[in-house]
Amino acid sequence: NTFVEIDLGELLNQNIRRCKYVKPTPVQRHAIPIALGGRDLMACAQTGSGKTAAFCFPIISGIMREQYVQRLRVARTVYPLALILSPTRELSCQIHEEAKKFSYQTGVKVAVAYGGAPINQQLRELERGVDILVATPGRLVDLLERARVSLQMIRYLALDEADRMLDMGFEPQIRKIVEQTDMPNRGVRQTMLFSATFPREIQQALTLVFVETKKGAD
Ligand code: AMP
Repeated sequence: NTFVEIDLGELLNQNIRRCKYVKPTPVQRHAIPIALGGRDLMACAQTGSGKTAAFCFPIISGIMREQYVQRLRVARTVYPLALILSPTRELSCQIHEEAKKFSYQTGVKVAVAYGGAPINQQLRELERGVDILVATPGRLVDLLERARVSLQMIRYLALDEADRMLDMGFEPQIRKIVEQTDMPNRGVRQTMLFSATFPREIQQALTLVFVETKKGAD
């Protein structure tokens, strides 16, 4: 079992080799083909399982395939195509660093926004263009309220460590964010959800988040 068999495209395969990944981890082997096929998925995955690549590879590959997509910016509002939500600044920064390596020379731009740090530098980075936005829920809601980010063009939504985000009380923010990624007339958002645990409270909360906001998707 190799990455070449998964058919992510030559550029992405080169970057995977540069990262010295030889064999997909179990979560990558199972999740990547499902996501490449355009389907939503929920995966149980711990830190260290390789989950970052499991959601980043299909997103990068998908954006590269959609060559007709223009990087849209209207006035000071940017329109990312993919959103990766994560609970903490540390995790967001790690995902950002990995996603930049994975998207090297693909033309796909990654930016990060997290709370507990001045917003101005993050705004300047966003203004330079963003296809994939990695963000913590609170800071993203702030950016949405300032109309500096719009989620109307989101095609890919990944929630990382969903159980931790809910434990931290981010459900209202996640709800608001997920609602804004709905594009009734513009195609379908693909959702990938990663969580270390799936206790019943989490399942119920997640079902709400998904079902209530997911109109028109199969
Ligand atoms: P993650 O669970 O996404 O935080 O990944 C844990 C670590 O494993 C990170 O340092 C990754 O760079 C590394 N990693 C992810 N996928 C692979 C792979 N297929 N082969 C070798 N290392 C990997």
